[in-house]
Amino acid sequence: MSRTITAKFGGTSLADASQIRKVADIIKSNPERRYVVVSAPGKRSSSDIKVTDLLYSCYSEFAKGDEYSGTLAKIKERYAEIVSGLGITFDVGAEIERIEDELRRYPPADYLASRGEYLNAKITASFLGWTFVDAAEVIFFDDNGHFDGERTFMAVNAKLRDIPHAVIPGFYGSMPDGSIKTFSRGGSDITGSIVARSTQSDIYENWTDVSGMLSADPRIVDRPRPITHITYNELRELSYMGASVLHEDAVFPVRKAGIPINIRNTNSPDDPGTLIAASIPEGIKRSPVTGIAGRKGFTSIRIEKSQMNGETGFGARLLYIFARNSIPFEHCPTGIDTISVVVSSSAFDAKREEILRELKNELSPDFVMIEKNLAVIAVVGEGMISTRGTAAKIFGALAEAGVNIRMIDQGSDEMNIIIGVDEADYEKSITALYGAMIG
Ligand code: ASP
Repeated sequence: MSRTITAKFGGTSLADASQIRKVADIIKSNPERRYVVVSAPGKRSSSDIKVTDLLYSCYSEFAKGDEYSGTLAKIKERYAEIVSGLGITFDVGAEIERIEDELRRYPPADYLASRGEYLNAKITASFLGWTFVDAAEVIFFDDNGHFDGERTFMAVNAKLRDIPHAVIPGFYGSMPDGSIKTFSRGGSDITGSIVARSTQSDIYENWTDVSGMLSADPRIVDRPRPITHITYNELRELSYMGASVLHEDAVFPVRKAGIPINIRNTNSPDDPGTLIAASIPEGIKRSPVTGIAGRKGFTSIRIEKSQMNGETGFGARLLYIFARNSIPFEHCPTGIDTISVVVSSSAFDAKREEILRELKNELSPDFVMIEKNLAVIAVVGEGMISTRGTAAKIFGALAEAGVNIRMIDQGSDEMNIIIGVDEADYEKSITALYGAMIG
């Protein structure tokens, strides 16, 4: 049986006619690529504006009663240029008129925002000679605005079963009353994942403008090694720390079905990119550490109380104080008579007085210390579980770089070691860790 590929192309891959031609070449070069999900046209250069951003501006001008025709004209021009560059017959003027008519009925902002993907999918389908399938007909949200997986998977499957090749706009679906609703920004990645899952694709290709994930932030480390293979779990850890190439929610639909994701580069289609799967294929050699990522902007609240160890429920009461104040905690390293809670500084600063008061009243600690300006770094790799000496190497590298470690936390799955350092030491730490563990 032949394989099926769902391929999603991001905004920069479809920013103008020459990019769309590249996309068409990629699609046609493998007949297994049967379902294509598209974003709206993205930036053509760093100073350009994404069509989705133009659509949001247009809507807010309209909603305020301001003149919006200039912004709408810009959007029209972007598509007109694409259509003429592709040499296809497609009436952009008529489409824009229809959108403007609809706008006069005061639809939600999501309607207008979704038109970027809608028009791009229609144009791409016409250029490829493929069927256009409107996401509003097959991707559903429930009354609470949550994605309705069961209904959607069935509908996409039923619709696409008999269509050999289709283009589907990303980013949106419809509410039970038929109105349009979008996912959060970057949500075409989610649509691609949904289509891959519903069509039982063998692989979900996510085409963007980089050749996959890098093992460290290229703004800090000079030409970091690309990650060729990564597990879903490792991806989740690294993305959470900011090393993201994919919308966070895009992993779930394919992961459940065991479909691997391949991040690829439209501008360099021969690069293998990054393969994200449940496990690493046999024969692939990887270093114990897959990637390093981190973020600044944390505060640690350290509480000391003698014989805390014997006091039942101390930790629960402590965390409840943060929960009650709607502050999610990131890490919670503990000692025998000490416990620290690491939280985002901006969230903590907004509730600082309340938290300190409640800590004093409810826990009667001996000592509370607040350490600000903390950066948190995650060293991630499933290979660390079975490799001895990894921790020694990590801490040795930081000591050699003269970094004072302020916190250590190891995830219970042993695939990540989290290190807290002063924000001022952040870049130096990443560089040292990369050099010792990956570079
Ligand atoms: N066009 C939408 C955005 O800019 C969705 C996407 O591109 O994935 O967020």
